[in-house]
Amino acid sequence: MSSVSPSHPPAPPRISAVPSPEGRFGQFGGSYVPETLVTALTQLSDTYQRIQRDDSFWGHLADLQRHYVGRPTPLYHAGRLTDHARALSRSQDRGANIWLKREDLAHTGAHKINNTLGQGLLTVRMGKKRIIAETGAGQHGVASATAAAHLGLACDVYMGAEDVRRQRLNVIRMKILGANVIEVDSGSRTLKDATNEAMREWMGSVEHTHYIIGSVVGPHPFPMIVRDFQSVIGQETKAQCLRTFQRLPDAVVACVGGGSNAAGMFYPFVDEHRVKLIGVEAGGHSSQPGQHAASLTLGSPGILHGSLSYVLQDQFGQTAPVHSCSAGLDYPGVGPEHAYWHQTGRVAYTAVTDKEALDAFTLLARAEGIIPALESAHAVAHALDAAAQMPRDAHLVICLSGRGDKDVDEAARLLAQREQPTR
Ligand SMILES: *Cc1c(COP(=O)(O)O)cnc(C)c1O
Repeated sequence: MSSVSPSHPPAPPRISAVPSPEGRFGQFGGSYVPETLVTALTQLSDTYQRIQRDDSFWGHLADLQRHYVGRPTPLYHAGRLTDHARALSRSQDRGANIWLKREDLAHTGAHKINNTLGQGLLTVRMGKKRIIAETGAGQHGVASATAAAHLGLACDVYMGAEDVRRQRLNVIRMKILGANVIEVDSGSRTLKDATNEAMREWMGSVEHTHYIIGSVVGPHPFPMIVRDFQSVIGQETKAQCLRTFQRLPDAVVACVGGGSNAAGMFYPFVDEHRVKLIGVEAGGHSSQPGQHAASLTLGSPGILHGSLSYVLQDQFGQTAPVHSCSAGLDYPGVGPEHAYWHQTGRVAYTAVTDKEALDAFTLLARAEGIIPALESAHAVAHALDAAAQMPRDAHLVICLSGRGDKDVDEAARLLAQREQPTR
């Protein structure tokens, strides 16, 4: 590696005493896996433990964040969006300043690269030569393929056959980057099934393969590791707020699929009790079963993909079908730390419908010249309402998790549907 500055950045600070050594966030989390995976998870935990005080690891990662990813990403004052919130408030003294943390400007167009580069470096540390990943919309697949190309690792990406069809452009990107895309034909042929398949494959290949989970989900230590790699978002935001308006923000809003951009944004603020933290889930068409993906708002405790958290499930504990206009939020589970924050009340969770997200998508494009990912548009939609209720001198930060280039076909289709007279 080329240029590590002499002032090595330390490992991300441990803020709260979670998870426990067994990977518990309160009652949530843990590691519900077949015995074949226990060795691999222990090896991962040990390696992660070992690099905590390893300046060369964090120095290498910081170097990549700066020169390869383009960090720090800007904190942008969205003036015209702020005006819009003020107009909504219909009050002289309401309407907080809205700021966007621009993860859409990170390399590959979303926050996911923060995690895949970190886990890619861990893969190298473990002496493994191959990574596998699951992907829904293809964003995590692209970020994994990118990290693999940069680090010279082989890469197989599991993707539901239905998603392969819907996300053709990302499939092409992964292939150009040198990854194999493996179509999964079981179940609903979407993200949940791709995750099952990737976990199954990993059991037979753990010797030489690392499985890069794409969000703060899965068995311990994944939720902790992914949170730590993503918490660069919140650390930068904190420093940028102090520099720009000389204090911490009053509220921070992020969308929640598996929960990685939100966890990365929230974690450095968890002990700052005056900062209100708000997670926004996919409300889909409605709160009817199968019509949304709001695991915390509408689900119940259960085990999915190796950990105990909130799950959308039927009366027999089978995962329920989910729907969201944004493929990245279309997941029936959520990270266990979010379940813990939900239970303790530290973070407030709410849901925004497809329609509200699509309105916010168009509004941000027209008001600021920024086309957000449909996932991020969920956060924007709720943030506008929240800002309208807050005092005028307050500051609200939105985690703009990704850019919307991948969504323009879907958004155009949904907007065209609106023009049709209904029935
Ligand atoms: C994948 C993705 C999400 C959802 O994943 P989290 O783990 O909840 O962050 C949100 N926004 C964008 C742009 C994504 O690509």
